[in-house]
Amino acid sequence: MKAKLLDGRKLAGMMQNELRSRIFEMREKFGQAPGLVTILVGQNPASVSYVSLKSRTARNLCFFEKQENIDESIETEDLVELIERYNADSRFHGILVQLPLPPHIDEQKIINAIHPDKDVDGFHPINLGRMVLGGEAVRFLPCTPAGIVQLLVRNGVKTDGANVLVVGRSNIVGKPLAIMLGQKGEGGNATVTLAHTGTKNLPQLCKQADILVAAAGKPGLIQADWILPGATVIDVGVNRVGINAESGKPVLRGDVDFEAACEVAGRITPVPGGVGPMTITMLMHNTVRSAELFLKK
Ligand code: NAD
Repeated sequence: MKAKLLDGRKLAGMMQNELRSRIFEMREKFGQAPGLVTILVGQNPASVSYVSLKSRTARNLCFFEKQENIDESIETEDLVELIERYNADSRFHGILVQLPLPPHIDEQKIINAIHPDKDVDGFHPINLGRMVLGGEAVRFLPCTPAGIVQLLVRNGVKTDGANVLVVGRSNIVGKPLAIMLGQKGEGGNATVTLAHTGTKNLPQLCKQADILVAAAGKPGLIQADWILPGATVIDVGVNRVGINAESGKPVLRGDVDFEAACEVAGRITPVPGGVGPMTITMLMHNTVRSAELFLKK
């Protein structure tokens, strides 16, 4: 079997085109574009590349966009103060603080400092609570899980009644995704199992999954013979496994043994080009939604 590729770049392009018409309408009606500030603390290479990609996408969509590059010696209280300035600035509808933060900074305090109405990453406890409630209560869904649900729905992968295994229980990917896929409604209604480092029989659990999501951050963890033939495999992992001698760029590998998995799975996301572009697109989507809610007030 040769798995069909779930192309995140293509879908991200389509969804960004849908956003363009909403942004155009907003500018016509209110004379304002969605505003996004990205805050980068320190120079972690992966964070630098994520933030520049987010800023570039925002600029391409004609957002009002600003990138704050902050020295990594900043203290928690000073970072909170900076966030409060953006909370009060009506030109910005979204505030993104790139995680992880340097270890001396209280990350939860920083997340809590972002006004829930501008929390376009969807990590504030209020927005996480709304996500758990589901339905009308939802404001901003965390970007990576929301992007995965879109990849499934828009590629016609049926989640209703499916057995799903999510490997990884982080607050930004695994845990929210497990909740979202278990909600009633489109892109939900699945029977979800959440696996983590305490899980005993991972290969057997994988073998029962119609949809297998790997979000462990362990290169090549998921072996081809763990996969149910014909299953849909979503590889969230982005692991830097070396540097390309010619380009000097990092070599990226997912959590799935991709080449071998392609022979067993029915559909699979590539790394890069699968979940990553969808994450960025959902951040843009959340910012447009935030701006619409603000301007319609
Ligand atoms: P994390 O380190 O916070 O969490 C990893 C989780 O995986 C933990 O809950 C842990 O219990 C589980 N885990 C680790 N090893 C395991 C094993 N052997 N068996 C079972 N469970 C295991 O990571 P995260 O922030 O959720 O990110 C996970 C991966 O996804 C990373 O590679 C990260 O770079 C990537 N990521 C990609 C995107 C994207 O947009 N493509 C977004 C976020 C994260």
